[in-house]
Amino acid sequence: MSVAAAAEAEVLKLEEVTVAYGDTVALENVSFSLHRGHFLCVAGPNGAGKTTLLRAILGLLKPRSGGIYVFGERLTRRNVLRMRRRMGYVPQLDAVERDVPVLVEGVVRMGFLPLQRPPRVLRRADVTETLELLHIGELRSKSFSQLSGGQQQRVLIARALVRNPEILLLDEPFSGVDPLSQQIILKTLHSLKKCGTTIILVTHDINPLFRFADHFLFLRRRVVAFGDASTVFDEDTLRRVYGADVRVFTADGEKYAAIGDYHA
Ligand code: ADP
Repeated sequence: MSVAAAAEAEVLKLEEVTVAYGDTVALENVSFSLHRGHFLCVAGPNGAGKTTLLRAILGLLKPRSGGIYVFGERLTRRNVLRMRRRMGYVPQLDAVERDVPVLVEGVVRMGFLPLQRPPRVLRRADVTETLELLHIGELRSKSFSQLSGGQQQRVLIARALVRNPEILLLDEPFSGVDPLSQQIILKTLHSLKKCGTTIILVTHDINPLFRFADHFLFLRRRVVAFGDASTVFDEDTLRRVYGADVRVFTADGEKYAAIGDYHA
């Protein structure tokens, strides 16, 4: 692979990134990189800086120091909108106004419009395809406010997917979501990854991700560990992330972590 091709394949790189809100340092000297088609799970206790990390990658927060490189270019005020067009963001369900009387199709179309240059044409078939990917085709003409949490989460993911993002960022997509929706979301992410989409998923519950994510970033303001499941999924690492009350056990050949509720 040429140097240029290697740089293109590296879709995201953080170099010593520090982000602060006034006196509160939320991320400190965070460095890691991801290539096309990687699936990163970002985990850590409440207040560890997970949402801050997503917002910094989207260019919504400016690092106090360090650099964020997206598709080989350093993120700046000048290129941030162009870069954001190539990303999809699924915010926490709790942060979304859920009572609005908008049809599912309208919510999905919202994901397409704001960042697109004219002509802004979203084909009906694109909406249909995206909804069907998430098994919610039949909900197209229903009101968003009447759906279950799991169905709403799938609609929000469809909203992020209609413009075919190269990087998909999801913030706690399994909070308040039923097990069937969780399975459908995981399968959808798996197929997107196989097609080359880079995925960054923030979660407080790492267990569903062990079979799906190929990289794990454990945060506690700083990077506690970064690597694949086999290198970071052990009691010692998880204790440093969450505190002392961690047990890793194996059931049906799969590892699980039992983690107490700790705060950073
Ligand atoms: P996580 O997503 O891991 O729970 P956050 O990124 O939301 O963590 O928060 C990291 C730290 O930054 C916490 O100490 C939090 O209180 C602080 N923080 C987050 N958002 C703001 C804000 N808008 N203003 C001030 N402090 C904030």
